[in-house]
Amino acid sequence: MKNLFRLLFLTPSFFFSLSPKVALEKIKEGNRRFVDDKSHQCSSSQNDRRKVLQNKQEPFAIILGCSDSRVPPEILFDQGIGDLFIIRVAGNVLGQSELDSMTFAVKALGSSLIVVLGHENCGAIKAVWKKQADIIPFINKKILPAIDFKDPKCTLACQTKNNIKYIVDQIKKSETFFSEITNNTLKVVGAYYPFVTGEVEFLD
Ligand SMILES: [Zn+2]
Repeated sequence: MKNLFRLLFLTPSFFFSLSPKVALEKIKEGNRRFVDDKSHQCSSSQNDRRKVLQNKQEPFAIILGCSDSRVPPEILFDQGIGDLFIIRVAGNVLGQSELDSMTFAVKALGSSLIVVLGHENCGAIKAVWKKQADIIPFINKKILPAIDFKDPKCTLACQTKNNIKYIVDQIKKSETFFSEITNNTLKVVGAYYPFVTGEVEFLD
């Protein structure tokens, strides 16, 4: 099936996937550079990279992140053109379009890591938690099952992490990635981004 996908879509001249462990290390190292204000991507020329990627892409990781303007995955993980396959939607919720996008990246492009990235002070999570999400009914429906309305100690950060974990679980349980997860060729992790430090917390 994988080969069929690759024939139908952008077929790289050769196909090389990083292991999920190495992919996660790359993401963590990139965030460390960002936190230390030593990002590589800002200073390096992208001309060569554009040429190399003209007819193929091999993004090593998929990020399901929030649309929030303060949480741009390429910048906070210090990655360049062609490195990340990014899906952004308010509340980083998982619907069929998001799952299909991930499926394409895993099965046709060889991505070996899925990061579900939530963040501090997320407006979508807050609106659902405070029952003020009438203007985003579809997203509201997606986030609601993850919210703990009973625990008074569960803060917005706690609710956001609940939502991240809920989505990670959904991806892990989906039949779509059963073989990749069983064979350890795909890892799914949750992550939480705090604004001030910029240091991403991995929730595994
Ligand atoms: Zn958000």
